[in-house]
Amino acid sequence: MKRKQVVIVGRPNVGKSSLVNRLAGRRVAVVEEHRGVTRDRKSVEVEWRGITFDVIDTGGWTTSGDDLQSKVSQQAETALAAADLVILVVDVTTGVVDEDLQAARWALRSGRPILLVANKVDDANHDAQSWEFLQLGVGEPFTISALHGRGAGDLLDAIVDRLILADEADETPLEEPDDGALRVAIVGRPNVGKSTLFNQLIGEERSVVHDMPGTTRDAIDTVVETNQGLIRFIDTAGMRRRAKTEAGLETYAVLRSLEALDRADIAVLVIDATIGVTGQDQRLAERIAGAGCPAIVVLNKWELIPTEERPQVLARLGDRLAFLGSAPVIKTTAISGRGVHKLLPALGEAAADYATRVPTGVLNRAIRDLQIKQPAPTGKIRYAVQGASEPPTFTLFVSGRLPATYLRYVERSLRERFELGSTPLKVRVRID
Ligand code: GDP
Repeated sequence: MKRKQVVIVGRPNVGKSSLVNRLAGRRVAVVEEHRGVTRDRKSVEVEWRGITFDVIDTGGWTTSGDDLQSKVSQQAETALAAADLVILVVDVTTGVVDEDLQAARWALRSGRPILLVANKVDDANHDAQSWEFLQLGVGEPFTISALHGRGAGDLLDAIVDRLILADEADETPLEEPDDGALRVAIVGRPNVGKSTLFNQLIGEERSVVHDMPGTTRDAIDTVVETNQGLIRFIDTAGMRRRAKTEAGLETYAVLRSLEALDRADIAVLVIDATIGVTGQDQRLAERIAGAGCPAIVVLNKWELIPTEERPQVLARLGDRLAFLGSAPVIKTTAISGRGVHKLLPALGEAAADYATRVPTGVLNRAIRDLQIKQPAPTGKIRYAVQGASEPPTFTLFVSGRLPATYLRYVERSLRERFELGSTPLKVRVRID
């Protein structure tokens, strides 16, 4: 088996070479990093818990300069592309700087698993500061002091754990294709009009349509070029072929929908307006909400509902789909195409909300304002970062305790201020 490659990246002066020395178990009195200094040793062999791996420092291959991206040599790119694990090193004593963001973007672009290591945590005080690095969007920081050796053993454990995990992931037979397309699952019970809707949608777009193999056996996806970008409709074989699964096989259709949901970025739940929301629909809605993926509800066969009954049908829909909160509802008549044109823009908007990133400064202004407007009865939010998008995930650093009602107020306020629509979002609390 090829020896595992652990590649260390980070801007100059964060302590990459001291870290390499630590991992190699060599005691070096003082290691200084100077900007632009090229070191000769770029790779060391490390053995831990019976696993041997190479640790490669890209430090010597980057030079100082504003644009890290353009300065990184081909050698570093090659190392990164072959990495089994990328370690992104940052410095807690300086906090997040622009070059860290560049380094994080560079590491993310490689598509390799990343472990964020916050260095120079020489006493417990700095532990709290390391949370600021959540905003790099590469997960929670692992704190160490390369100079003093603090955390080195734990870091080796974490590295080995991830190498083993990556190995297991490699054994997964079918890999999700990543063509950058938005993955959309059109789900619902048989005969609600999914196929009719789908054919209208791609017919109307007169778009480039490709059939692509999906990840599950006999699943075919349809990739469509739209004015909202590339969209991959998941498991559309049954929809494009007019031949249908038998109407009686409702459970089978729902199972298939559930599988499609697992791979989707956004779910389109189609409901037959003449029947309303059934138990199966609720089951699907619950699953969509549980997956944390944004949803759009299509209320099809709308023309069959007499005008005077429409408000009542809508009200009942809201009651019975409480799981999906305020997901947009689009009323369609798929057979004539009426209303179908609203679906693509709604998908585009939902995708944009889901991918929202709020800069830390802007977020903290919002947190300050919302606390001034309505202070918490107990506790206080000291600081907040958005640690992830898709879904937008906000971490609040809190002293004391915040009641659940106040957290709902925070969520509501952030949703309004950053126009997050009905996208699912997460608010996490860390007690200082
Ligand atoms: P699927 O099983 O969810 O893919 O449903 P289909 O697209 O095959 O539609 C089931 C039946 O409903 C077909 O007979 C369609 O012609 C009909 N249908 C689909 N959309 C509409 C609609 O908006 N209005 C009416 N009245 N019938 C529809």
